[in-house]
Amino acid sequence: MQKSVIHLEEIRKSYYLGKNELPVLKGVTLDIFKNEYVALMGPSGSGKSTLMNILGCLDTPTSGSYILSGHDVSKMEDNDLARVRGKEIGFVFQQFNLMPRLTALENVAIPLIYAGIGKKERLEKAMAMLEKVKLENRADHKPNELSGGQCQRVAIARALVNDPSLILADEPTGNLDTKTSIEIMDIFGAIHASGNTVVLVTHEEDIADHARRIIRLRDGVIESDRINQKYVVTN
Ligand code: ADP
Ligand code: MG
Repeated sequence: MQKSVIHLEEIRKSYYLGKNELPVLKGVTLDIFKNEYVALMGPSGSGKSTLMNILGCLDTPTSGSYILSGHDVSKMEDNDLARVRGKEIGFVFQQFNLMPRLTALENVAIPLIYAGIGKKERLEKAMAMLEKVKLENRADHKPNELSGGQCQRVAIARALVNDPSLILADEPTGNLDTKTSIEIMDIFGAIHASGNTVVLVTHEEDIADHARRIIRLRDGVIESDRINQKYVVTN
């Protein structure tokens, strides 16, 4: 029996602008299992980021249930949600979201502050993560002294530093050129190969082709959910 990392049941999400309801997710039911590598695709405005924010415990659904690694997170209060997020999830954003005044090393160490780990151990662990993304020689640099690809590698190291069970990435190569995008996708491939569960949003077919499973969202519902043909074994 495979273990669900993510179990979604009839997830709905509306935004409210005054009295006007904007329904964005219209009943999403989905299981993602341990060590899957999933690309989430779909047109702009189809609800990909809304879904990712719910998966990442950055937002809660209007209705439906979300079981993350066995815990019902759909009805949790903000404090508990933040705790689960810190422990279970590494989130990578298109805009990197690094702290501009902190060095690469300090940025990577941030999640360890919330985990209550002492400074010496924090910096050692952060350095080990920077080595994994081959940026140990940029540890003292601030984000504005790094290229876009290097910033994203710092952000990936930060997402991994707490050893989360789930890595979520919302258009992680959206601001990068093709060559740099390939380098970043190689890192996600290595993350998956080392046993992580990865869900990544992209609108580029070439990027999605790195994933084993491709889910397409359209107008707030799942339009298709298939195994990448590359990985279908035929005899
Ligand atoms: P995608 O990531 O697929 O482009 P989003 O999930 O960002 O789609 O957005 C889906 C719809 O929800 C869009 O119409 C967007 O304008 C709207 N939306 C997203 N976030 C908010 C918000 N915080 N408040 C109001 N409307 C939002
Ligand atoms: Mg988006």
